[in-house]
Parts: sequence; C-alpha cells; structure tokens
Amino acid sequence: MVTTTVFGLSTGLFINNKFIPAHGGHTLDTINPATGKHLAKVSAAQTEDVDSAVAAAQTAYVACWKRSPPQEKAKLLLRLAELIERDRDDLATLAAVDAGALYADTQYGEIEQSIQQLRYYAGWSDKITGKLLDGRGEGLSFTSREPLGVCAAIVPWNAPLMIAIWKLAPAIAAGNVLIIKTPELAPLCGQKLGELVCEAGFPPGIINIICGLGTIAGHALAEHQGVSKIAFTGSTSVGRSIMRASANSNLKRISLELGGKGPSIVFGDADLENALKWTIRGITLHNGQICAAGSRILVHESIYERFCREFHQRSRDAVYGDPLLPATKKGPIISQAQLQSILKSVEMGARNGGHLLHGGKAIGEGGYFIENTAFMGVDEDSIIARDEIFGPVAAISKFSTEEEAVARANRTIYGLSAAVFTSSIDTAVRVTAAMESGHVTVNAWGMLSADAPFGGYKQSGFGRDGGEEALESWTTVKTVKYSISAST
Ligand code: NAD
Repeated sequence: MVTTTVFGLSTGLFINNKFIPAHGGHTLDTINPATGKHLAKVSAAQTEDVDSAVAAAQTAYVACWKRSPPQEKAKLLLRLAELIERDRDDLATLAAVDAGALYADTQYGEIEQSIQQLRYYAGWSDKITGKLLDGRGEGLSFTSREPLGVCAAIVPWNAPLMIAIWKLAPAIAAGNVLIIKTPELAPLCGQKLGELVCEAGFPPGIINIICGLGTIAGHALAEHQGVSKIAFTGSTSVGRSIMRASANSNLKRISLELGGKGPSIVFGDADLENALKWTIRGITLHNGQICAAGSRILVHESIYERFCREFHQRSRDAVYGDPLLPATKKGPIISQAQLQSILKSVEMGARNGGHLLHGGKAIGEGGYFIENTAFMGVDEDSIIARDEIFGPVAAISKFSTEEEAVARANRTIYGLSAAVFTSSIDTAVRVTAAMESGHVTVNAWGMLSADAPFGGYKQSGFGRDGGEEALESWTTVKTVKYSISAST
C-alpha cells in the first residue's frame, strides 16, 4: 500500500477501490505553481497498470454493473455529489496548491459545476430509453440504448475535478465503467476523488483513477484493445494522436474537447459596463487558462478607443499571489514551461506589429506569475490573433460592419465558444446564428450549466459534455425486431 504524503491523501493508483503503487514503483512529482516548490509525489501509471485498470473495470462490468438497476447508479451519483459538497473546502484547497486556481473561483465554479453535473445525470439514469418503431407493420420493432462497457477519460490540468466529473457523471448514468487518467501537472483533486468514490459506495472496479504521463498512461489507454471509448479534453495536437491510436488499435469511439480561440464581439450599442466586465473576466479568469477564454475581442469602431482605455485601466493591475488568500485576484500559471510559452507568444505578438496596451512580463519571485496582458490593433494573421496561447493575453481589434465582425470572428481553425455584446435582439439573433462555434453567449461570457451541451465546431473537436447530448456518446443503439406469426 502506498503511504500518504500530502494533505493526508493517498498517492497511489486507485484501482478496484484500493490505492496501489505503480508497476516498478514509478512516481511523478508535482509542483505548487504559486511557489515553484515541490508539492507531492504520486504514483505514475505504466502500461502494465493501465492493463490492470482495464481488467478491473471489465470484471466489474460483467460481474455486477451490467445488471445493476439504474436507480442504484442514481443513488451513487447523488451520494458522490453530497460528498463533494461536504469536502468542498478541501477540494478548493487542493485545486489552489496543485493547479493554481483561486480558492474562491473554484468554490463558485469548478465545485459547483461538479455537484450540478452529478445531480443532473443522476436524474437521467432511469430515463435513457429507446424508441418503439413502426417496423412496416411486420412485427414488433424497437431500439434500446446500451452502455459501451469499459470507457476511459483523459483529463487536462486546468479544471481537473470538473472535467473528470463531466465525463464520470454521464458515463456512469449510462451504465458504463470508467478509467480516469488525471493530469500529471495537477493530480491531487483526482486522488481525493478516488477516496470519495470509495466512500460513496461504488463497487470496486467501476471507477478507477490513475495518474501518469500522457505519453505513457494516456497513450496506453488510447491504443488499448479493451477500451471501447475515450473521452478526451485537452490540446488539439494530443487529440489528433488519440485519433491515430484509436485507428491503429480497435477503432474505439472518441469524443474530443479541444482548444479554442474564442471571439467576443462588442457592438456599438452594447452596455459598455457589462461588456467590459465580461470581456475582462473572459480572458483573466484562471489567467486565461480556459479553453473557452475570450482571447480575441472585436470592438466596433464607434466605441473602440473608449473600450480600450477602460479595458486597460480595469485589467492592467490585479493583486497576484497565493490563490488561497481572499484578497488574491490572480493566481499563477500552471508551470514554468507554460509561463515561458506565454512570454514567447507575447514577444512574437509585439514583433508582429500589435500595440502592447499593457502587461507582457513575468512578475514575482518563485512562482509562475505573469501580468495581465492586452494588445490593440492586432493583425489577423499574427500569432496573438491566431494561436491558442492559454494565458491572460487579450487581442483587441476594431471592426466597422457586422459582416466584417462575423467573418473575422469565424476566421480561425477553432470553434469552441464565442460571445456577442449588443442591446439589439435582431443583431444578437443574426450574429449567434452566424457564429461557427459550439457555445455562444449573449451579453455575458461562460455561463456553463449541467443541462447545456458544451463542445466544439471545427478543430475544437466533436462530441459534447453536458446535457442530454453527452449521453449519446456514452451509449450505443441496438435495434430489435420480432417477427410475429399471424393469428390462426
Ligand atoms: P494536453 O493535451 O497536453 O493534456 C491533456 C491530457 O492528455 C493530460 O492528461 C495528458 O497527460 C494527456 N496526454 C498528453 N499526451 C498524450 C498522449 N500522447 N496520449 C494520450 N494522452 C495524452 O492539454 P493540457 O495542457 O493538459 O490542457 C490544455 C489544453 O486543453 C488546451 O489546449 C485547452 O484548450 C484544452 N482544454 C479544452 C477544454 C474543452 O472543454 N474543450 C477544456 C479544458 C482544456
């Protein structure tokens, strides 16, 4: 049995409701991004451990889960929601020290979303049904929706609890068993989740949670012959490699929630205060390390100068520091490598002719902090306007006409999220319809909820988390046809 090292948490791989060491005793180290100091050592799953997790899940599926009634699944999901609620302070603390997320934001966002998702899908457990078909009047025909069996979820570091639950809740409600590969940069919420799964009373093997390197544990899941589906959230480049691994192995199903370069269009008639509030939040929340970040802000020429002036004044300075403290408004970037990558993008943006409105420099000592950063007059083809930077870097530019704004907003390989700010319902209806994006908000940014499907157009991926739509990807359809003999 692996010993505990941090916050009383078990640090082993959670397989069959037990925390066990990885094959060969492999571990990986995590760093507190606010201090740059070592935080914990957790087990790092190897290919052999992935085999063990798949075997445990398969055994549990056949032995009990396949026949367990939907009401049992609902009860367990509701119990897990209760436990997350009970331990929300611990989870928010772990997210702060491990992923650099602000304690208050995690309480309001990630944890609340996780609880909502579990309760929402608990309600779905006994409502996943098929259809009665006409069958050309030749007998009895119907469809049923069936689980896929052993599924896997691969989760990124930026919202590790919430994104794990986005997969877990519909997967379990639909009757599947699951292996969750937690992110190597922020595994601690996943370790805690393992403990709560056990306490909630899930039978062994139904939910297995393993940390490990993407190239080893993630890749082993993606090419495993015993896994029927991978639900992946992460970068577009890793999404491609998961598709290749599926094609090269058993053609497992895949859903991909990938990157974004979200446009926010601010029309001249918008409520300026409201637009400033949301566009600033859209690029500074969690330091812009959010797939749905509103990193491109297109502002009508009639209000452009004023918007930029106010944006500058309100977002240039933010109290940065320890994410656990209530006064802190800005936490660290997840890692030294990610900080360097953001700084490089800023440097290239400045060379590409963008006018630096503010920011662009690393700040503080020890931790991985960067100033809120904004560019004005950004060239459409520059790296700042084109690439997902995954940092607090806004690219602001001006437009003249609605057609121009829509065309420029859609000129991207991504299509995950967009925001429109206007007081005209006609403009809002026209522009939301024209956005090539899976999630569009009007006069706000974000607004995730359990009943709302979330996912991308274009290279932001396919499949949805949330809502009834997510259940589609966790089930398959069987058609049954009875031939009925004519009465004699
Ligand atoms: P990442 O793609 O580097 O890693 C995501 C996960 O994939 C991690 O668990 C990692 O270990 C694993 N992984 C890495 N290489 C792998 C491989 N070869 N095979 C299998 N698994 C592998 O992404 P990240 O840096 O953790 O997160 C940032 C990215 O995630 C950004 O691009 C962001 O836009 C995206 N993201 C998308 C959403 C969404 O809902 N669309 C949400 C959050 C983050």
